[in-house]
Amino acid sequence: GNFEDLGLNQWILDHLNHLGFRRPSPVQFNCIPPALQGRDCFGCSKTGSGKTAAFALPVLQKLSEDPYGVFCLVLTPTRELAYQIADQFALLGKPINLQHTVVVGGMDTLQQAAALKKRPHVVIATPGRLADLLRSSEGNVNLKKIKFLVLDEADRLLDKLDGDFSEDLDVIFEALPKERQTLLYSATLTDTLNELQELSTKKPFFWEA
Ligand code: AMP
Repeated sequence: GNFEDLGLNQWILDHLNHLGFRRPSPVQFNCIPPALQGRDCFGCSKTGSGKTAAFALPVLQKLSEDPYGVFCLVLTPTRELAYQIADQFALLGKPINLQHTVVVGGMDTLQQAAALKKRPHVVIATPGRLADLLRSSEGNVNLKKIKFLVLDEADRLLDKLDGDFSEDLDVIFEALPKERQTLLYSATLTDTLNELQELSTKKPFFWEA
């Protein structure tokens, strides 16, 4: 398939062409159209498969059509992944001057809270640090109006959090609107799904390679 077949706006097609993205990878080809249609998507996909662009491009397109406040929250298991995702968003979102913030452990908490108060379009976070910020600066960090929740490497997210999963994620989900679009990517979709059923109120689109 071609990027032209997926329902992407012309500015994105031009930018992908400029970046040298010639053809959509399978996860992009399959998951971008339902995401653009507003569906929740649960995709089975690994790093290197192009899954970041599979969730970033629909988010950027919707953002370009209706920009306001913190638009998208991405949760990912590690600091390294958070920065990789941030780089991809910056690259793909350059034509619309995308503003993003990374919220991870090991960085100054006050600085991160200040960055969040500027209401970036996309927040890329590890759950522990974001939950801490939400607990400590209640009312200041506002995620109530996000349109997209992305769970990247959802299986690792759950493994890593293990016992703390419910506590940190409860704090985060409590801060999110019920009405939102959820995009979830995981290497092992089936195991993860049982624990994540409640994440989607709508009937999700499932994709496995
Ligand atoms: P990811 O699997 O999301 O970590 O992406 C892996 C790498 O592939 C990143 O450096 C992307 O910029 C790049 N990439 C993603 N999709 C495409 C594509 N359709 N064509 C060329 N490069 C791509």
